[in-house]
Amino acid sequence: MNTLYIILASLILFFILGHFHRRKRAKSKVVHVVDNQCTGCKRCMKRCHHKVLDLVDDSIGAHIAVEYPERCTACGDCVTVCKFNALELIDRSNKRNNR
Ligand code: SF4
Ligand code: SF4
Repeated sequence: MNTLYIILASLILFFILGHFHRRKRAKSKVVHVVDNQCTGCKRCMKRCHHKVLDLVDDSIGAHIAVEYPERCTACGDCVTVCKFNALELIDRSNKRNNR
């Protein structure tokens, strides 16, 4: 029985620490589109649950733009699904021109 309590307590502690780690990361990091790498395939848009990204069509063609950076939790899901290395997580303080 003690073993069960230890396992449960460990799981709860792991969850709480993970929660604070994610919150800290969301405050310090944000997604960024790497210039000229995006093909506009929209895989990242479909993966993002926070609707941070949107497809725009301008002088350089169709590409992803970070429309709502304040919503980004820096989870990295969009970075993972992009096959063209067109997304990266950067420090919010170093935020460049996030088209
Ligand atoms: S950032 Fe990557 S996944 Fe998203 S539309 Fe562009 S190429 Fe596709
Ligand atoms: S890092 Fe996460 S929250 Fe931010 S745009 Fe990508 S999928 Fe959305």
